[in-house]
Amino acid sequence: MLTLQFLGAAGTVTGSRFLLTVDNQKVLIDCGLFQGGKELKERNWNPFPVNPKEIQGVFVTHAHLDHTGYLPKLVELGFKGKIFATPSTVDLMEILLRDSAHLQEEEAAYHNRGKFCCPHARPLYTLQEAEQALYQTKAVPYGESFNFGNIKAEFIPSGHILGSAFIRLTVPQNGNEVSFLFTGDMGRYHSPILKDPFPVRKADYLLVESTYGDRIHEKITRIEAILPAVQECLALSGCLLIPAFTVGRTQEILYTLREMLDQKKIPQIPVYVDSPMAIDVTHLYAEYHQEHDMDMEKLEKEGHSPFRFPGLQYVRTTRESKSLNHLKGPLIIISANGMCTGGRIMHHLANRLPDPTTILLFVGYQGSGTRGRELLEGAKNITIFHEKIEVNARIKQADNFSAHGDYPEILQWISGFEKAPLKTFLVHGEPESTSALKGHIYEKFPEWKVEIAQDMQSVEL
Ligand SMILES: [Zn+2]
Repeated sequence: MLTLQFLGAAGTVTGSRFLLTVDNQKVLIDCGLFQGGKELKERNWNPFPVNPKEIQGVFVTHAHLDHTGYLPKLVELGFKGKIFATPSTVDLMEILLRDSAHLQEEEAAYHNRGKFCCPHARPLYTLQEAEQALYQTKAVPYGESFNFGNIKAEFIPSGHILGSAFIRLTVPQNGNEVSFLFTGDMGRYHSPILKDPFPVRKADYLLVESTYGDRIHEKITRIEAILPAVQECLALSGCLLIPAFTVGRTQEILYTLREMLDQKKIPQIPVYVDSPMAIDVTHLYAEYHQEHDMDMEKLEKEGHSPFRFPGLQYVRTTRESKSLNHLKGPLIIISANGMCTGGRIMHHLANRLPDPTTILLFVGYQGSGTRGRELLEGAKNITIFHEKIEVNARIKQADNFSAHGDYPEILQWISGFEKAPLKTFLVHGEPESTSALKGHIYEKFPEWKVEIAQDMQSVEL
C-alpha cells in the first residue's frame, strides 16, 4: 500500500504536512503551523487527522514555522519518532521552535490575565514540548542518502533559506522502487548569500509549491527595489520601517544595504536590526560557509561581511528596542515579524504609522487576513493592541525580495527533469496561484500530469 495525504498547505500557503504511508510505515513530510488570519490559526487547534503515535518519522524541508511549527504539538500528542533535517535547519529550528513555544505561552498568559476574553487559555504547546521535539531531531547533511525503515531519503539544496532542502524519498513497491520529490518552498535563482536551487533529474511523484504560481517577480535588482524607499527616507528625514522575516529576508536586506553603501548609492545612516532572533539567525547565516554562493565566498575571502557595516546596530533588549521610539530620522528599522501579526514590529507600527514621514516597506509575501495585507491594500486605520492606529505612513512594496521562486523560476527548475513524473501535485498556494501554475506547466510541458492537491485528500499511488 502506498498513499499520500495532504493534511495542510492545500488551497493555502501554510500548514505544510504531507503524510506518506508505505505499507505499515507512516511518515510526515513537514509538520507546520497554519499561520495568518484568525480562521487559519484556529485550525492548529483541530484534532490531528492521524494518531501521532502511529507516525514513525518526520522529514523537514526547512525551518520556517509553517513547515516545522506544529512539531512540538505532535510530540505533545504522543509522537515518539525521529525528526530529520539538515544541520543548519536543526540549528534554526532550535531558535524558531523555542521562540514559537515562548509566544504560545505568552499569548495564553495574556488571555489568562483576563481583561479581554478566555480565562483558562492554554498554550498550543509549551517550551518543554518544543525541547522534546528538538531532542527527537537528527541532523543529516545535504547529499547524504540515509535509510529510515524501508524509506531511503536525501536532502538536496533548494535555495529558499539557510538549510532548506528538496526531499527525495525512495520506497520499495512490488519489487520496484518508487521515488517522491517534495520541493518544500522553492528558492530563487541568483539571490544573494545562498546557492541556487539544485537541479533534480527525475522522480515518480512530485509535489511542487505554488505560492507565486501566478506571478513574475519584478525584473529589477534588489538595490533598485529598495533604493527609492531609502532615498525617500533620507529626503523626509523619516523612518524606513521594514517588517522582515527573521530568517532569510533580514539577511538579504542587510546584504543589499551593504552593497548600496559600498557602491556609494546611499550615505551611512543608522540601521537597526530590532529582533534578538534575527540576530541569532544572522550569526548562523554567517557560520554556514558551505551553503554560501560564490559572491558571498568572495566577499568573505576579502575580509568583508554583509552582516557588519558602518551604521548597523543589532538591538537585543526590550529597553534598547523601546529607546528606538524616540529616535528622529533618517533611520532604518528592520524588525519582525514579516507579516505584522506579532513581535516587536507591532510597537514600531503603533508608534510610527501615524507619522507621515514614515515609510513602511514590505519585502515579503503578506498572507490574507494579516495586518500586513490590510496595510498593503491601503487600510487607513488598523487595530494594534486593541487600539485604533491611524495610518499616515507611505506604504511600499519591494516584491523581488521574496524567497519563493516565481512561476518562470519554477518552470526553469522543472525543465531540469529528464522525463515527466507519473504525477505532479501542486500544493502550498492560494487557489488562484495554484491553478495559474497548473496552466503554465501544461503550456510548457503538455505531457505532464498535474493535479491540484485538495485539503485532506488521500491519493492511492
Ligand atoms: Zn519557507
